[in-house]
Amino acid sequence: MTKEELMRKAIELSKESVANGGGPFGAVIATKEGEIVAAGTNRVTSSCDPTAHAEVSTIREAAAKLGTFNLSGHVIYTSCEPCPMCLGAIYWARLDRMYYGNNKTDAKNIGFDDSFIYDELELNPTERQLPSEVLLHDEAIKAFEAWTAKEDKVEY
Ligand SMILES: [Zn+2]
Repeated sequence: MTKEELMRKAIELSKESVANGGGPFGAVIATKEGEIVAAGTNRVTSSCDPTAHAEVSTIREAAAKLGTFNLSGHVIYTSCEPCPMCLGAIYWARLDRMYYGNNKTDAKNIGFDDSFIYDELELNPTERQLPSEVLLHDEAIKAFEAWTAKEDKVEY
């Protein structure tokens, strides 16, 4: 499939999601050659899962199908520019490229404003709306020490 056909599939999924009571978001992950590996929609309300955005749901499906946590060699087509969580997930999944239809402003205009998260990222943790502070660092670091010492770890 061409990139336009793959994006139309993501858009189609976003429309179906609206019709089915979900958020207006859809995503497709395909190989670089255009073969669909996974497709998903926003399932936050139906799954009672605040992380079930279309991109995260589709990444989970693709990784499970392919049996790997590394989706390099694949491309994501999402009906809307991703929120910070999904953008982070796209980087963590090592996807090669992203195409998006709607942008952040389009999303903000219909009540899906994630700009406050981007703003929060600019601040020191102590200055964010989410109260955050370091606690038990000397105990938490033990897991990192164990990781560093482990010789047969699966790095990712
Ligand atoms: Zn998202």
